[in-house]
Amino acid sequence: MTPAQEALERLREGNARFVSSERNSDALTSERRRRKVAIAQDPFAIILGCSDSRVPAEIVFDQGLGDLFVIRVAGNIVAPSQVGSVEFAAARFTTRLVVVLGHSNCGAINATIEELGRRTEERSRNLRSIVDRVRPSVSAVMSGNPKLAHDELVRLAVGANIRMSVNQLRHGSEILEQLIQNEGLLVVGAEYSLETGVVEFFDV
Ligand SMILES: [Zn+2]
Repeated sequence: MTPAQEALERLREGNARFVSSERNSDALTSERRRRKVAIAQDPFAIILGCSDSRVPAEIVFDQGLGDLFVIRVAGNIVAPSQVGSVEFAAARFTTRLVVVLGHSNCGAINATIEELGRRTEERSRNLRSIVDRVRPSVSAVMSGNPKLAHDELVRLAVGANIRMSVNQLRHGSEILEQLIQNEGLLVVGAEYSLETGVVEFFDV
């Protein structure tokens, strides 16, 4: 079992390698590695990230097969299936770090801002289920700062949405609450910059 702080350090180091183009993931995806993890997995971190094609968790943290348990969904939202996936990994593999990974200029945030600006009844029910979960963060930023320029609104809403998902994971599950209180499980937010490749962790 990898303690949360150590896991966080591994992610920081991996992201630094990614940013400086010194990736070592060739070794992490080798045949030897594949055979080793085929027997059992022991991921050291759980990542709840956005589906955006530009933010693949294993690549931006320079990790290989068996390292990360990754859940990806547009807007890195927390719905019951995401909570269940995190519970499963935290309980089954004793993984002690959960990272909610959002990113700059997120399309789900943009779509939600658009929706708040005009009526888009033609949007599918399925897509609405994502927008509905992002909306409270965007609305909170808008009502606190009614004159924000669009880019600034997106920037603040991305952060608010990450924090909301972190809170929902911390308080939306008895299993996770118990693991946080008694077993050293850490749930943190982080934001990836599409421009620089840097992942910034919140409040740690
Ligand atoms: Zn996104």
